[in-house]
Amino acid sequence: MPTQESDYNLLESVVREIGGDDAIKVAGLLNPIEETTDEAIAAGAEMKLNAVRKILYRLYDARLAEFRRIRDKSTGWFIYFWRLKPNRVEELVINRKKTVYRKLKARLDYEKGFHFFKCDQDYCPRYIFDEAMENNFKCPECSNELKAFDNKDIVEKLSKKVDELQKSLEKSGVDVENLDNDAKDDLGQIIATGKVAAIADSNSYLGTE
Ligand SMILES: [Zn+2]
Repeated sequence: MPTQESDYNLLESVVREIGGDDAIKVAGLLNPIEETTDEAIAAGAEMKLNAVRKILYRLYDARLAEFRRIRDKSTGWFIYFWRLKPNRVEELVINRKKTVYRKLKARLDYEKGFHFFKCDQDYCPRYIFDEAMENNFKCPECSNELKAFDNKDIVEKLSKKVDELQKSLEKSGVDVENLDNDAKDDLGQIIATGKVAAIADSNSYLGTE
């Protein structure tokens, strides 16, 4: 497993997509260096051997795990030794980071590129200047006055996260400038189609800190 906690979280989400909580349990008992048998995993995860095998083959299909088998001379059955594929795990983590970086960069550009307006009700959304003006600076939801909204905290939080990801991606040899251009395209499209709410999806990558 990658040592950094954020890397681990990203890997976990990839594994969860492959096979839910059971896949998390199985992958958590696999190691990139030491091999382990499906029986040992079944015992450790308190799962049925067949269910463990199903997940192991799914991880194998996703090139996340690999196995070696030897024939048990006394029984004639094959014994499978499994381990995580370290390079592939790293590759998946980098891919996931690229996706998150692109989303957060587009969101950051959006936050920096507009002035926002909001009423004093927490549950009402924010509006950009054009929208606020069209509504005569009255909230379309509650009719209260729309006032300038300071997004300094949001920009700060996003900048910090984007910087972290940028450094980490550059360390892995990723061309971040390409991703920046992709993020610009994403934002352009979001604005052109008026689907600004879609950008709020990036909130899920910001964590709760
Ligand atoms: Zn309102």
